[in-house]
Amino acid sequence: MFHGKKLNVFILFMQPPLFIFTIMEVIVIVLVTLAALFLILKVLFTKQHPKVVEKDRLSNEEIALLELHVPYYNELNEADKEEFVHRMQHFLATTRITGVNVEVEPIDRILVAASAIIPIFGFKDWEYINLNEVLLYPDAFDETFDQASADRTTLGVVGTGPYQNIMILSRHELRQGFINKTGKTNTAIHEFVHLVDKTDGEVDGVPEALLSKKYVLPWLDLVRTNIERIQKNKSDINPYGATNKAEFLAVAAEYFFERPDLLQEKHPELYELLSKMFRQEPKVE
Ligand SMILES: [Zn+2]
Repeated sequence: MFHGKKLNVFILFMQPPLFIFTIMEVIVIVLVTLAALFLILKVLFTKQHPKVVEKDRLSNEEIALLELHVPYYNELNEADKEEFVHRMQHFLATTRITGVNVEVEPIDRILVAASAIIPIFGFKDWEYINLNEVLLYPDAFDETFDQASADRTTLGVVGTGPYQNIMILSRHELRQGFINKTGKTNTAIHEFVHLVDKTDGEVDGVPEALLSKKYVLPWLDLVRTNIERIQKNKSDINPYGATNKAEFLAVAAEYFFERPDLLQEKHPELYELLSKMFRQEPKVE
């Protein structure tokens, strides 16, 4: 009987062949490899895109909280609102928010994420590379993070040493910063500005990641004159800003994002330079 010609494919031809496959076997191997590749790519693609985004998407209830508590968001146009929410989702998907002796409620997650995005909204590709986790304490704590200590004055801190890549916030202050609509202070925004300042390695009030070189000297000049005015009791800027250059930056940024209208009216030069630094002109009615 005629058996047909059996074709062999020699994979290795420099030496005596180690493996010999028939055409059918080669076809099967190629098909199996392609199927496996397809499955691997499908799993990878599914992991990186639709499911994560779907899981992290802010719910309608969360968007309602944002609208209710964050005037900055309400003043954005529709396209910017969408972008803002998208970046909050990304922040929440990549940063843990943990309560220490306090329950983290949806409002807290929204306020932390909004505070993170507000200062860097003018920088489209910004990532907080120096932050993994935000710890929420019920209220003020002291320098050793002891919540029961008699000297509980700290309301927020950007961690160093063992607390590297961690931010600690008083939950009470986090909420207070957004409840008080006419105030010039916001602890969470203050701490995120420190974190932005820290990107160049130092919390020194000169955020090199934000400030182009030509503005550094004018900025330092403004910081000095404003600190002098605070010290002479001739300024409406939070006196805590006179502590040092880093605190001045954080305090001035709070004012800029909370009451841009008032800052522009009372401190036009400061407003001008901060809007260049943060690449935005926030509007809050
Ligand atoms: Zn500070």
